[in-house]
Amino acid sequence: NIISKECSNKKRCRENDIVEEARKRSRRRYLGRRVEKILSEVADNIRDQEETFEGVKLTQGEERDSWYKKELCKLGKKLSKEEDSTDQYRMPDAYDIDGAINQERRFSVLSRHDKDIEGVKKKMNPFLEQEAWEQHQIEKATLKFGSRDRKVNAEDYDYVFEDQIDFVKLSVMGDTDERPNETKAKTSFEGLQEDRKSLPIYSYRDKLLQDVSDNQVIILVGQTGSGKTTQLPQYLHEAGYTKKGMIACTQPRRVAAMSVAARVSQEMGVKVGHEVGYSIRFEDCTSEKTLIKYMTDGMLLREFLHEPDLASYSVIIVDEAHERTISTDVLLGLVKDEACHRKDLKLVISSATLDAKKFSTYFNSAPIIEIPGRAYPVDILYTKTPEVDYIDATIGTILQIHITEPVGDILVFLTGQEEIDAVHELLNYRTRSLGTKIRELVICPIYANLPTELQAKIFEPTPDGARKVVLATNIAETSLTIDGIKYVVDPGFCKIKSYNPHTKMESLLINPISKASANQRAGRSGRTGPGKCFRLYTYYDYDHDLEVNTVPEIQRTNLATVVLTLKSLGIHDLVNFDFMDPPPSEALLRALEQLFALNALNAKGELTKTGRRMAEFPLDPMLSKMVVASEKYNCSNEILSIAAMLSVGNSIFFRPKDKKVYADMARMKFGNEGDCITLLNVYDSWKETDFSTQWCYENYIQIRSMKRARDIRDQLEGLLKRVNIEIRSNNDLVAIKKAIMSGFFLHAAKLQKDGSYRTLKNPQTVYIHPTSGLVERRPRWVVYSELVLTTKEYIRQVTEVKPEWLVEIAPHYYDGLA
Ligand code: ADP
Ligand code: MG
Repeated sequence: NIISKECSNKKRCRENDIVEEARKRSRRRYLGRRVEKILSEVADNIRDQEETFEGVKLTQGEERDSWYKKELCKLGKKLSKEEDSTDQYRMPDAYDIDGAINQERRFSVLSRHDKDIEGVKKKMNPFLEQEAWEQHQIEKATLKFGSRDRKVNAEDYDYVFEDQIDFVKLSVMGDTDERPNETKAKTSFEGLQEDRKSLPIYSYRDKLLQDVSDNQVIILVGQTGSGKTTQLPQYLHEAGYTKKGMIACTQPRRVAAMSVAARVSQEMGVKVGHEVGYSIRFEDCTSEKTLIKYMTDGMLLREFLHEPDLASYSVIIVDEAHERTISTDVLLGLVKDEACHRKDLKLVISSATLDAKKFSTYFNSAPIIEIPGRAYPVDILYTKTPEVDYIDATIGTILQIHITEPVGDILVFLTGQEEIDAVHELLNYRTRSLGTKIRELVICPIYANLPTELQAKIFEPTPDGARKVVLATNIAETSLTIDGIKYVVDPGFCKIKSYNPHTKMESLLINPISKASANQRAGRSGRTGPGKCFRLYTYYDYDHDLEVNTVPEIQRTNLATVVLTLKSLGIHDLVNFDFMDPPPSEALLRALEQLFALNALNAKGELTKTGRRMAEFPLDPMLSKMVVASEKYNCSNEILSIAAMLSVGNSIFFRPKDKKVYADMARMKFGNEGDCITLLNVYDSWKETDFSTQWCYENYIQIRSMKRARDIRDQLEGLLKRVNIEIRSNNDLVAIKKAIMSGFFLHAAKLQKDGSYRTLKNPQTVYIHPTSGLVERRPRWVVYSELVLTTKEYIRQVTEVKPEWLVEIAPHYYDGLA
């Protein structure tokens, strides 16, 4: 009975979710027609679900020990709930690791749940099964995936064509006369020097050096791939600027900083970290020798704290300025000011788009140097009708290109890691079932959390006869240039951080891109030959729905971190700070309020001792408050581990899709006190095993993330010493939770009758994320560290608290609550 009730509830949820999903993803006007298609898919999905529940029943009927049965049922329910809520996009149902090893089992089509249960039935002790998951991460390409689409099998090949998407060619972009010779990637030192000379920027070398010498500030504009990032710092170094100080080149993205540093050190024939290094949060790969330093804009901002005159630098290159990240914007204000004081400091503001006038005006009419593009023409193709499911459309388009278009690699723009993983899996499945009928497709993902050694893979030349498809986030839009791309698939979305002023909450949202972005993306296909850009939206949508430019981040995000940094730099008059585009004044006000609530600012808006200490940590103000507050509760040791684990992101637990049951059981061992405490237990247990890799394998923990957490922890420990907080341990859970709450009390929520939560201030309904350990237990009061918006508003990293602590810890904020 419970099961059938669950099923009918499920049916309803599922329908709602899918309609919601369609609403979000399809372009408004055509929704009506398309929803029908989705609804028929809903019916299929529900049928799958019913089978699954029978699967649970089946297991129950068998002789199993009672604990095991209970766990299994719980997990069965949990999994099904999860599918309701987390799968923002349809994911493959089975994820067949065995299949990778045993080719014969390739097409064993069991649904995800069937499979889990099947596995459980077979192996009473799941923890004995120690797959090498790190290997799994690295060799995803060799894995086999099942798919929702069981019907497709032998007819897959036809299917590709049946499902063909109609594109219309409406425009051709950027045809110029000059045509560079196509060059194959060279890796020898001489080869690299030749490559350097073939870049468009090379013929401007002397002019550039002259202009830098004649002016304090220049604006450099040139198409992506023209050599701005890799060459300019080298030219300046060759011209002797590094004799007076380092050259800093800032990047909005970590991956770009790392990858470019690797490339430039190769070109200069030195080791990364020696003459050429990089510095990103929690990772400083520089040394005494370093002359050219690639760094994230956020890192240079932090360096201001300790060296306000930037004395160790002779040149600052603010690269990718068009991205207008919040750090870039603040940096622009600060370097502009510093340039007035230090006449010997040279500034180069470099941008990929032609929005240079604005930068020039901002920098008192600094000269603009433009490196003409020399792109090949790019055919822009639009879909005839809007696509409901851009993930499906993306896969279809990739296969279509692979089968029907001549040689050339494909670059696909997706919004984030989950999407990239999903497309990767689905593509693997499809190509495998097509077998030798098609040429090899080499799939390379690239996103910020991808392990460094895999990041390099996208630059490796494609093997003869094969085609490379790069699945990238926005990072490939302007920050990274991948040679050999002839086709671009652009679904038209990106993930951006936005702050909702009504709910005072910040979340990552999938949004349509701007026209400027769409054109940048298209341009990626015309670098080495004529290209094609497949836009998975109609021309009408492009023309009518897309904004011209992306709104600068500073105008849409929470400013607390920035305000804290500026305050600690002694900049008090934020309203009159020279921002290129000032943030809305209410946003500034809210940030001040938040910092005041955290006791980082006093009533006069001045930095308090707590605030000064908080600013030392490269963390979000709430996290740094938690760290600083740990002193009071004598638990800095534990809190440091928690802060480090939280900073790693949501990649501690390894949950392969076919082994979620085992993974979740393993996770239960780390307690049910709340996610932060679970993370602490994981860290401590790992430490007890002397940081054992084997232990991680056995417990479905990702060793890579753990090592990163350990590094971060070490660094935080150093900073803790700097602010004179002793390392103390306390076994008292209440004390630890109170310290957590000292940071996150602004994120308090109370359980409602229907199982949802309501945030206390600015009431809003939120739900515990299905991956949280508290999703079943649902304590009455919680604080959370993160809000994500997928199908619903979910809270993550949830900790159970007592309401009286709220009043104790933040009486000024929760006055009258008791
Ligand atoms: P821009 O900054 O103007 O966009 P870059 O300096 O980044 O241009 O790129 C110049 C050239 O260097 C490109 O042709 C690109 O292919 C190559 N390149 C850049 N980074 C790497 C890398 N990590 N590996 C291999 N080639 C790279
Ligand atoms: Mg660049």
